[in-house]
Amino acid sequence: MLITSAIALVAGCAGLGRRVELPSEKQFEREQLRVFSDVELPKNHRLLEELTARRRDIANILLLPMSDEPIQVYLFDDEKRYQRYLKQNHPQFPNRRAFFLKNDTELKVFAYWGEFVAEDLRHEVTHGYLHATVPNIPLWLDEGLAEYFEIPRGEKGFHRQHIYFLTKHAKQNRWHPSLTRLESLVDPAKMSQLDYAESWLWVHYLLETKPEYRKLLQDQLARDRMTGKAKPLSNFLHELVGDEQDEVIGHLVELSNAMKKEQ
Ligand SMILES: [Zn+2]
Repeated sequence: MLITSAIALVAGCAGLGRRVELPSEKQFEREQLRVFSDVELPKNHRLLEELTARRRDIANILLLPMSDEPIQVYLFDDEKRYQRYLKQNHPQFPNRRAFFLKNDTELKVFAYWGEFVAEDLRHEVTHGYLHATVPNIPLWLDEGLAEYFEIPRGEKGFHRQHIYFLTKHAKQNRWHPSLTRLESLVDPAKMSQLDYAESWLWVHYLLETKPEYRKLLQDQLARDRMTGKAKPLSNFLHELVGDEQDEVIGHLVELSNAMKKEQ
């Protein structure tokens, strides 16, 4: 989830009880990450190591330069405190487990310690790394990449939940892939679960099938970074492939078969 905000923080919301402070004790600083947590973190926490390593993974896979712009990560000790903080400070935000907030001067991630904290942090911190380098990244690509990189390292973005979800919808004839439709989305709050899943599928197809497709994605990100508003990727993909919608469905079928073999 990405939120770009120029909206001033709402101060002193009456009626919501005592003001919730942000986690303030800095527990971890490495490369771009500044982690503030309610909970004491061991120095070599595996998740934090993984989040740091992601910076290099993203740069290597997408051929993007690394930025030094800090990403502040706020980790609340529980969901209640996190929710109260959000209500008081960002009442306009949709209800999500975690989010990434970008304004003119800062990149921030908010999350809480819970069952999904690892996945949530991998996802939101990916937004931070991407926006530090490609500030105008298109929404679908931003979310597709965050979904790809929310999967633990070494699994090459193999997102079982999305494979299952998309396969089910395709079989019921309730979904047909369309990259041009995804490219037209501009409001993160209006992205459905299916939009997230499809964005992930296109990213996975581009990164994990043919080297020339991966290069196409790398070139697109380079253009997005340099020009701010590049011609949509679907134009280049269609020129290169021709029947990319059939191919992406074929890719989904292969992934679905691979998943069945695991069981
Ligand atoms: Zn996201």
